[in-house]
Amino acid sequence: MRLTSDFPDVLVVGAGFAGAVAGRRLADAGHSVRIIDRRPHIGGNAWDETDAHGVLVHPYGPHIFHTNSRRVMAWLSRFTDWRFYEHRVLARVDGRHFPIPINRTTLNAVFGLELEEADVPAFLESIREPRAPLRSSEDVVLNSVGSRLCDMFFRGYTKKQWGRDLSELSSSVAARIPVRTDDDDRYFGDGFQFMPRDGYGAMFARMLDHPRIEIALGQDYASEPSRSTARHTVYTGPIDEFFDYRFGPLPYRSLRFEHYHTDSVGEDGFVQPAPVVNYPNEEEFTRITEFKQLTGQRCAGSSLVREYPSAKGDPYYPIPCAENEALLKQYEAEAMKWPTVSFVGRLAQYRYYNMDQVVASAIKVADSVAERLTSKNPG
Ligand code: FAD
Ligand code: UDP
Repeated sequence: MRLTSDFPDVLVVGAGFAGAVAGRRLADAGHSVRIIDRRPHIGGNAWDETDAHGVLVHPYGPHIFHTNSRRVMAWLSRFTDWRFYEHRVLARVDGRHFPIPINRTTLNAVFGLELEEADVPAFLESIREPRAPLRSSEDVVLNSVGSRLCDMFFRGYTKKQWGRDLSELSSSVAARIPVRTDDDDRYFGDGFQFMPRDGYGAMFARMLDHPRIEIALGQDYASEPSRSTARHTVYTGPIDEFFDYRFGPLPYRSLRFEHYHTDSVGEDGFVQPAPVVNYPNEEEFTRITEFKQLTGQRCAGSSLVREYPSAKGDPYYPIPCAENEALLKQYEAEAMKWPTVSFVGRLAQYRYYNMDQVVASAIKVADSVAERLTSKNPG
């Protein structure tokens, strides 16, 4: 008997969003799929689990699902029900809390004004420092809100998070954060904003529960027996690692997560005034997340996490800037020479992707792989 593990149609490296979505899609299309992950769990960085105090936490930092893609939403809805959740963030500066993204409330609080919504565009016009073209993240922030707000909310946070100045990062990083003229204090503007009702882990378990999928955890690609026998490989790990760093390592930013629990909560049951509080300046950490505010879990105490950025550690963030883009192009050219390997996901494509973008990319890749495998193997 041919075991899937020896001769899978598709070997999927990584059981995060990229690997799990591609694997399920290929299994649904009739192909046998072996999914491996070097970690002891599925779900990649979106994994969640219950901590020692019974609180559902995200070991790799806060993950909030948001998308404008009806297709992505519909596809994931096969594997989970959802809890409506609109994310909110406050920045703590000089002992005060301000809404982020910057909105009318932020502007009035910082500048001691009482602007009406209709006054805000003219006020922004008076403080912005026009830049063209918008190449760097510094250009984006100064162009929209000027240097006082840049220094209060963006420059320090960015230096900590990326180990670089705003001027050394491509415009796409700061462009993730809008500026609002009204009182909308939601972090994201997307049409769909939800959390998986039973958590990400449960959603991944359902996605991977398929008779044509087998999973091997604690299994690295380097020692995977089927790497030479699978008809096709979907690789979701770091692209530079796949090619043994032959053009040099692509820089990634990492994080150290400091998880903690407290029974000392306020009258509302919470520790913080918002699910996430950003600390842009003095502190070494960038933000603190209070998990039960994200998940809606009701419990007596509360579990939180502080994020300390670092250069060393697991690769969490590709660093968007011109020099890394040039290095990536070299790896992409190499990848083109490997028609039986597809590179998909945040690490394999070296893109600062949100979860929904990874899902969309994995669906696309899986469909083209399924088509190729089927046309090579008619009947
Ligand atoms: P990963 O989740 O990194 O999965 C890759 C998997 O491949 C890993 O499990 C890894 O162990 C495995 N692997 C790698 N190499 C090998 C190998 N050689 N052999 C075996 N296995 C291997 N997105 C949002 O949309 N909303 C958010 O709120 C949000 N918050 C985030 C917060 C943080 C702190 C971080 C770091 C990311 C956040 N993201 C968020 C982004 C989100 O985590 C990613 O878009 C998504 O999880 C990427 O999925 P992936 O499968 O591409 O990569
Ligand atoms: N950012 C900032 N101050 C903030 C929030 C964000 O300077 O209060 C900048 C910072 O460079 C950050 C980027 O905007 O890395 C993107 O923020 P986002 O919240 O999207 O980061 P993620 O959740 O991916 O870590």
